[in-house]
Amino acid sequence: MEIEIQPVTQPKAHIEDETKLVFGRQFTDRMFVMEYDSGKGWHSARIQPYAPFTLDPAALVLHYAQEIFEGLKAFRRQDGSIALFRPKDNIRRFNQSASRLCMPPVDEEFFLKALKELIRLESDWVPHSEGTSLYIRPTMIATEAVLGVKPSNKYLCYIILSPVGAYYKGGFKPVKIWIADEFIRSAPGGTGEVKCGGNYAASLLAAKEAAARGFDQVLWLDAVERKYVEEVGSMNICFLYDGKIVTSPLHGTILNGVTRRSILQLATEMGYDIEERAMSVNELLEGAESGRLTEAFGTGTAAVVSPVGQLTYKDRTVTIGNGQMGELTLKLYKALTGIQYGQQPDTHDWVVEI
Ligand SMILES: *Cc1c(COP(=O)(O)O)cnc(C)c1O
Repeated sequence: MEIEIQPVTQPKAHIEDETKLVFGRQFTDRMFVMEYDSGKGWHSARIQPYAPFTLDPAALVLHYAQEIFEGLKAFRRQDGSIALFRPKDNIRRFNQSASRLCMPPVDEEFFLKALKELIRLESDWVPHSEGTSLYIRPTMIATEAVLGVKPSNKYLCYIILSPVGAYYKGGFKPVKIWIADEFIRSAPGGTGEVKCGGNYAASLLAAKEAAARGFDQVLWLDAVERKYVEEVGSMNICFLYDGKIVTSPLHGTILNGVTRRSILQLATEMGYDIEERAMSVNELLEGAESGRLTEAFGTGTAAVVSPVGQLTYKDRTVTIGNGQMGELTLKLYKALTGIQYGQQPDTHDWVVEI
Protein backbone atom coordinates (compact mmCIF):
# COMPACT_ATOMS: atom_id res chain seq x y z
CA MET A 1 0.00 0.00 0.00
CA GLU A 2 1.24 3.47 -0.93
CA ILE A 3 1.21 6.21 1.68
CA GLU A 4 -0.09 9.50 0.36
CA ILE A 5 1.81 12.45 1.82
CA GLN A 6 -0.37 15.54 2.16
CA PRO A 7 1.17 19.01 2.62
CA VAL A 8 1.01 20.94 5.88
CA THR A 9 -0.10 24.49 5.19
CA GLN A 10 -0.29 25.85 8.73
CA PRO A 11 2.62 24.53 10.79
CA LYS A 12 2.25 24.91 14.56
CA ALA A 13 4.62 26.90 16.75
CA HIS A 14 7.12 24.73 18.65
CA ILE A 15 7.61 25.15 22.39
CA GLU A 16 11.17 26.50 22.36
CA ASP A 17 11.77 26.00 26.09
CA GLU A 18 11.92 22.21 26.31
CA THR A 19 11.54 22.29 30.10
CA LYS A 20 7.96 23.45 29.45
CA LEU A 21 6.95 20.36 27.46
CA VAL A 22 4.12 18.60 29.28
CA PHE A 23 3.24 14.97 28.48
CA GLY A 24 0.37 14.59 26.05
CA ARG A 25 -0.59 18.25 25.75
CA GLN A 26 0.92 19.25 22.43
CA PHE A 27 0.78 17.29 19.21
CA THR A 28 2.86 17.66 16.07
CA ASP A 29 1.79 18.93 12.63
CA ARG A 30 1.06 15.58 11.04
CA MET A 31 -0.57 12.25 11.75
CA PHE A 32 -0.69 8.90 9.97
CA VAL A 33 -4.19 7.61 9.17
CA MET A 34 -5.57 4.55 7.39
CA GLU A 35 -9.06 3.12 7.09
CA TYR A 36 -10.49 -0.39 7.09
CA ASP A 37 -13.64 -1.78 5.54
CA SER A 38 -14.69 -5.44 5.72
CA GLY A 39 -14.14 -7.05 2.36
CA LYS A 40 -11.71 -4.34 1.30
CA GLY A 41 -9.10 -4.41 4.05
CA TRP A 42 -6.88 -1.46 5.00
CA HIS A 43 -6.85 1.39 2.51
CA SER A 44 -6.38 5.15 2.10
CA ALA A 45 -3.09 5.25 4.05
CA ARG A 46 -1.92 8.84 4.34
CA ILE A 47 0.20 11.22 6.34
CA GLN A 48 -1.99 14.27 6.69
CA PRO A 49 -2.16 17.44 8.76
CA TYR A 50 -3.09 16.73 12.41
CA ALA A 51 -6.81 17.45 12.62
CA PRO A 52 -10.01 16.33 14.38
CA PHE A 53 -11.97 13.39 12.90
CA THR A 54 -15.60 13.44 11.91
CA LEU A 55 -17.31 10.48 13.60
CA ASP A 56 -20.92 9.40 13.37
CA PRO A 57 -22.52 9.62 16.86
CA ALA A 58 -23.46 5.94 16.47
CA ALA A 59 -19.81 4.89 15.80
CA LEU A 60 -19.29 1.61 17.67
CA VAL A 61 -16.22 2.83 19.58
CA LEU A 62 -18.33 5.46 21.33
CA HIS A 63 -20.76 2.90 22.71
CA TYR A 64 -18.99 -0.42 23.18
CA ALA A 65 -15.37 0.74 23.56
CA GLN A 66 -13.83 -1.26 20.72
CA GLU A 67 -10.54 0.64 20.96
CA ILE A 68 -6.88 -0.23 21.39
CA PHE A 69 -3.68 1.78 21.58
CA GLU A 70 0.08 1.60 21.95
CA GLY A 71 2.74 3.83 23.50
CA LEU A 72 6.39 4.10 22.49
CA LYS A 73 9.01 6.79 22.04
CA ALA A 74 11.50 8.23 19.57
CA PHE A 75 14.76 9.48 21.06
CA ARG A 76 17.16 12.16 19.82
CA ARG A 77 20.69 10.81 20.12
CA GLN A 78 23.92 12.68 20.71
CA ASP A 79 24.87 12.67 17.02
CA GLY A 80 21.49 14.19 16.14
CA SER A 81 20.05 10.96 14.75
CA ILE A 82 16.66 9.65 15.87
CA ALA A 83 15.97 6.14 17.13
CA LEU A 84 12.98 4.05 18.15
CA PHE A 85 13.15 1.52 20.98
CA ARG A 86 11.88 -1.99 20.17
CA PRO A 87 9.05 -0.69 17.92
CA LYS A 88 8.36 -4.16 16.52
CA ASP A 89 7.42 -5.33 20.01
CA ASN A 90 4.81 -2.58 20.24
CA ILE A 91 3.39 -3.34 16.80
CA ARG A 92 3.16 -7.04 17.61
CA ARG A 93 1.36 -6.23 20.86
CA PHE A 94 -0.96 -3.85 18.96
CA ASN A 95 -2.00 -6.81 16.81
CA GLN A 96 -2.42 -9.06 19.85
CA SER A 97 -4.69 -6.42 21.40
CA ALA A 98 -6.59 -6.14 18.10
CA SER A 99 -7.14 -9.89 17.98
CA ARG A 100 -8.62 -9.99 21.52
CA LEU A 101 -11.08 -7.19 20.68
CA CYS A 102 -12.05 -8.70 17.27
CA MET A 103 -10.31 -5.90 15.37
CA PRO A 104 -8.33 -6.39 12.15
CA PRO A 105 -4.53 -6.76 12.35
CA VAL A 106 -2.20 -4.28 10.68
CA ASP A 107 0.66 -5.43 8.44
CA GLU A 108 3.56 -5.20 10.89
CA GLU A 109 6.20 -4.31 8.31
CA PHE A 110 4.00 -1.72 6.66
CA PHE A 111 3.07 -0.19 10.01
CA LEU A 112 6.71 0.21 10.99
CA LYS A 113 7.45 1.78 7.61
CA ALA A 114 4.55 4.23 8.06
CA LEU A 115 5.72 5.08 11.58
CA LYS A 116 9.28 5.73 10.41
CA GLU A 117 8.06 7.88 7.51
CA LEU A 118 5.88 9.93 9.87
CA ILE A 119 8.76 10.52 12.27
CA ARG A 120 11.10 11.40 9.42
CA LEU A 121 8.65 14.10 8.31
CA GLU A 122 8.18 15.28 11.91
CA SER A 123 11.84 15.02 12.93
CA ASP A 124 11.92 18.70 13.93
CA TRP A 125 9.51 17.80 16.71
CA VAL A 126 11.88 15.37 18.44
CA PRO A 127 13.24 17.49 21.31
CA HIS A 128 16.97 17.79 21.99
CA SER A 129 17.51 18.20 25.75
CA GLU A 130 18.48 15.39 28.05
CA GLY A 131 15.66 13.04 29.01
CA THR A 132 13.21 14.39 26.42
CA SER A 133 11.61 12.34 23.64
CA LEU A 134 8.78 12.18 21.14
CA TYR A 135 5.91 10.07 22.44
CA ILE A 136 4.15 7.97 19.79
CA ARG A 137 0.53 6.90 20.16
CA PRO A 138 -0.80 4.36 17.62
CA THR A 139 -4.56 3.91 18.05
CA MET A 140 -7.35 1.88 16.42
CA ILE A 141 -11.08 2.63 16.78
CA ALA A 142 -14.30 1.04 15.53
CA THR A 143 -16.15 3.49 13.30
CA GLU A 144 -19.11 1.62 11.84
CA ALA A 145 -22.26 3.66 12.59
CA VAL A 146 -24.66 1.11 14.01
CA LEU A 147 -25.95 0.33 17.50
CA GLY A 148 -25.70 -3.29 18.56
CA VAL A 149 -22.97 -5.26 20.28
CA LYS A 150 -20.87 -6.81 17.51
CA PRO A 151 -17.45 -6.33 15.95
CA SER A 152 -17.37 -3.29 13.68
CA ASN A 153 -17.07 -3.60 9.90
CA LYS A 154 -15.13 -0.32 9.70
CA TYR A 155 -12.06 0.94 11.55
CA LEU A 156 -9.75 3.91 11.68
CA CYS A 157 -6.11 3.40 12.61
CA TYR A 158 -3.91 6.40 13.29
CA ILE A 159 -0.64 7.49 14.84
CA ILE A 160 -0.23 10.82 16.64
CA LEU A 161 2.98 12.25 18.11
CA SER A 162 3.59 14.39 21.18
CA PRO A 163 6.93 15.90 22.28
CA VAL A 164 7.57 15.19 25.96
CA GLY A 165 9.87 16.75 28.51
CA ALA A 166 12.18 14.88 30.86
CA TYR A 167 10.13 12.70 33.23
CA TYR A 168 12.53 13.30 36.11
CA LYS A 169 13.05 17.06 35.88
CA GLY A 170 13.45 17.70 39.59
CA GLY A 171 15.32 14.44 40.28
CA PHE A 172 13.85 11.03 41.06
CA LYS A 173 10.86 11.24 43.33
CA PRO A 174 9.78 7.91 44.82
CA VAL A 175 6.01 7.41 44.63
CA LYS A 176 3.52 6.61 47.37
CA ILE A 177 1.32 3.72 46.42
CA TRP A 178 -2.11 2.70 47.58
CA ILE A 179 -2.85 -1.02 47.34
CA ALA A 180 -6.44 -1.34 46.12
CA ASP A 181 -8.42 -3.67 48.39
CA GLU A 182 -11.88 -2.92 46.99
CA PHE A 183 -11.40 -2.46 43.26
CA ILE A 184 -9.75 -4.77 40.74
CA ARG A 185 -8.31 -3.97 37.32
CA SER A 186 -8.67 -7.25 35.49
CA ALA A 187 -9.72 -10.84 35.98
CA PRO A 188 -8.63 -14.15 34.42
CA GLY A 189 -10.18 -14.43 30.97
CA GLY A 190 -10.71 -10.67 30.78
CA THR A 191 -8.73 -7.98 28.97
CA GLY A 192 -5.93 -7.32 31.46
CA GLU A 193 -3.19 -8.01 28.93
CA VAL A 194 -4.86 -5.90 26.25
CA LYS A 195 -3.82 -2.29 25.83
CA CYS A 196 -7.34 -0.92 25.52
CA GLY A 197 -9.04 2.23 26.74
CA GLY A 198 -11.75 0.22 28.47
CA ASN A 199 -9.29 -1.06 31.09
CA TYR A 200 -8.35 2.50 31.90
CA ALA A 201 -11.95 3.76 32.15
CA ALA A 202 -12.56 1.05 34.75
CA SER A 203 -9.47 2.08 36.74
CA LEU A 204 -10.29 5.78 37.13
CA LEU A 205 -12.37 5.60 40.29
CA ALA A 206 -9.69 3.75 42.28
CA ALA A 207 -7.06 6.23 41.05
CA LYS A 208 -9.28 9.14 42.03
CA GLU A 209 -9.80 7.76 45.52
CA ALA A 210 -6.09 7.11 45.88
CA ALA A 211 -5.28 10.68 44.80
CA ALA A 212 -7.82 12.08 47.27
CA ARG A 213 -5.94 10.23 50.03
CA GLY A 214 -2.61 11.67 48.90
CA PHE A 215 -1.26 8.69 46.93
CA ASP A 216 0.40 8.84 43.51
CA GLN A 217 -0.60 5.45 42.11
CA VAL A 218 -2.76 2.39 42.68
CA LEU A 219 -1.27 -1.09 43.00
CA TRP A 220 -3.71 -3.74 41.81
CA LEU A 221 -4.16 -7.13 43.39
CA ASP A 222 -5.42 -10.25 41.62
CA ALA A 223 -9.18 -10.51 41.18
CA VAL A 224 -9.58 -14.07 42.48
CA GLU A 225 -7.93 -14.02 45.89
CA ARG A 226 -7.37 -10.26 46.25
CA LYS A 227 -3.99 -11.21 47.59
CA TYR A 228 -1.31 -11.23 44.89
CA VAL A 229 0.39 -8.23 43.34
CA GLU A 230 -0.41 -7.59 39.67
CA GLU A 231 0.78 -4.17 38.48
CA VAL A 232 0.62 -0.43 39.22
CA GLY A 233 -1.38 2.17 37.30
CA SER A 234 0.08 2.03 33.81
CA MET A 235 3.25 0.18 34.81
CA ASN A 236 4.46 -3.31 35.60
CA ILE A 237 6.12 -3.70 38.99
CA CYS A 238 9.38 -5.31 40.13
CA PHE A 239 10.75 -5.93 43.61
CA LEU A 240 14.25 -6.56 44.88
CA TYR A 241 13.53 -9.23 47.48
CA ASP A 242 16.27 -11.28 49.16
CA GLY A 243 18.60 -9.90 46.49
CA LYS A 244 16.50 -11.36 43.65
CA ILE A 245 14.20 -9.59 41.26
CA VAL A 246 10.60 -10.67 41.77
CA THR A 247 7.82 -9.69 39.38
CA SER A 248 4.32 -10.93 38.55
CA PRO A 249 4.19 -13.63 35.88
CA LEU A 250 2.48 -12.95 32.54
CA HIS A 251 -0.65 -15.01 33.02
CA GLY A 252 -3.11 -12.88 31.11
CA THR A 253 -4.21 -10.33 33.69
CA ILE A 254 -1.29 -7.90 33.37
CA LEU A 255 0.16 -6.03 30.44
CA ASN A 256 3.20 -7.62 28.85
CA GLY A 257 5.40 -4.52 29.06
CA VAL A 258 8.28 -3.87 26.69
CA THR A 259 10.07 -2.03 29.49
CA ARG A 260 9.48 -4.95 31.88
CA ARG A 261 10.96 -7.37 29.34
CA SER A 262 13.97 -5.11 28.70
CA ILE A 263 14.66 -4.46 32.40
CA LEU A 264 14.49 -8.19 33.23
CA GLN A 265 16.98 -8.90 30.43
CA LEU A 266 19.39 -6.20 31.62
CA ALA A 267 19.11 -7.34 35.25
CA THR A 268 19.84 -10.94 34.19
CA GLU A 269 22.96 -9.74 32.40
CA MET A 270 23.99 -7.86 35.56
CA GLY A 271 23.88 -11.22 37.35
CA TYR A 272 20.54 -10.97 39.14
CA ASP A 273 18.20 -13.94 39.47
CA ILE A 274 14.69 -13.27 38.20
CA GLU A 275 11.66 -14.85 39.81
CA GLU A 276 8.42 -14.43 37.89
CA ARG A 277 6.04 -15.49 40.61
CA ALA A 278 3.05 -14.44 42.64
CA MET A 279 4.02 -12.07 45.47
CA SER A 280 1.40 -11.74 48.18
CA VAL A 281 0.60 -8.40 49.73
CA ASN A 282 1.54 -9.86 53.11
CA GLU A 283 4.95 -10.98 51.90
CA LEU A 284 5.43 -7.50 50.49
CA LEU A 285 4.51 -5.60 53.65
CA GLU A 286 6.47 -7.94 55.92
CA GLY A 287 9.41 -7.87 53.54
CA ALA A 288 9.52 -4.09 53.71
CA GLU A 289 9.42 -4.19 57.52
CA SER A 290 12.01 -6.95 57.91
CA GLY A 291 14.35 -5.50 55.31
CA ARG A 292 14.10 -8.48 52.91
CA LEU A 293 12.41 -6.18 50.41
CA THR A 294 14.95 -3.51 49.62
CA GLU A 295 13.70 -1.92 46.40
CA ALA A 296 10.48 -1.62 44.40
CA PHE A 297 9.95 0.08 41.05
CA GLY A 298 7.37 0.36 38.33
CA THR A 299 8.41 -0.12 34.69
CA GLY A 300 6.82 1.53 31.66
CA THR A 301 7.60 3.55 28.56
CA ALA A 302 6.72 6.93 30.09
CA ALA A 303 8.92 6.80 33.21
CA VAL A 304 11.24 3.88 32.26
CA VAL A 305 11.48 3.03 35.96
CA SER A 306 9.56 4.68 38.77
CA PRO A 307 10.91 4.07 42.28
CA VAL A 308 8.35 3.20 44.96
CA GLY A 309 9.03 4.77 48.35
CA GLN A 310 5.96 3.77 50.31
CA LEU A 311 3.12 1.24 50.20
CA THR A 312 -0.21 1.45 52.02
CA TYR A 313 -2.65 -1.43 52.43
CA LYS A 314 -5.82 -0.71 54.40
CA ASP A 315 -4.41 1.18 57.41
CA ARG A 316 -0.89 -0.21 57.27
CA THR A 317 1.90 1.84 55.66
CA VAL A 318 5.43 0.58 55.04
CA THR A 319 8.52 2.34 53.72
CA ILE A 320 10.74 0.53 51.22
CA GLY A 321 14.45 0.74 51.97
CA ASN A 322 15.08 4.29 53.16
CA GLY A 323 12.20 5.61 51.06
CA GLN A 324 14.58 6.84 48.36
CA MET A 325 15.41 5.49 44.93
CA GLY A 326 17.29 2.20 45.26
CA GLU A 327 20.76 1.55 43.86
CA LEU A 328 19.66 -1.18 41.46
CA THR A 329 16.66 0.88 40.29
CA LEU A 330 19.03 3.71 39.35
CA LYS A 331 21.49 1.33 37.70
CA LEU A 332 18.74 -0.20 35.55
CA TYR A 333 17.40 3.25 34.66
CA LYS A 334 20.84 4.33 33.48
CA ALA A 335 21.44 1.11 31.55
CA LEU A 336 18.14 1.29 29.67
CA THR A 337 18.14 5.04 28.93
CA GLY A 338 21.82 4.73 27.93
CA ILE A 339 20.80 2.33 25.17
CA GLN A 340 17.81 4.47 24.14
CA TYR A 341 19.85 7.67 23.86
CA GLY A 342 22.81 5.95 22.22
CA GLN A 343 25.28 6.48 25.07
CA GLN A 344 25.65 2.72 25.52
CA PRO A 345 26.14 0.13 22.77
CA ASP A 346 22.94 -1.59 21.65
CA THR A 347 24.05 -5.20 21.95
CA HIS A 348 20.47 -6.57 21.84
CA ASP A 349 19.37 -5.04 18.55
CA TRP A 350 16.65 -3.09 20.36
CA VAL A 351 17.23 0.23 18.64
CA VAL A 352 15.78 1.03 15.21
CA GLU A 353 17.23 4.11 13.58
CA ILE A 354 14.96 6.37 11.59
C1 LIG B 1 1.44 0.21 28.58
C2 LIG B 1 1.25 -0.42 29.91
C3 LIG B 1 2.33 -0.92 30.67
C4 LIG B 1 3.78 -0.72 30.30
O1 LIG B 1 4.12 -1.24 29.07
P1 LIG B 1 5.44 -0.75 28.31
O2 LIG B 1 5.43 -1.53 27.07
O3 LIG B 1 6.60 -1.04 29.18
O4 LIG B 1 5.26 0.74 28.11
C5 LIG B 1 2.05 -1.57 31.86
N1 LIG B 1 0.79 -1.70 32.31
C6 LIG B 1 -0.27 -1.22 31.61
C7 LIG B 1 -1.63 -1.42 32.16
C8 LIG B 1 -0.07 -0.56 30.41
O5 LIG B 1 -1.12 -0.08 29.74
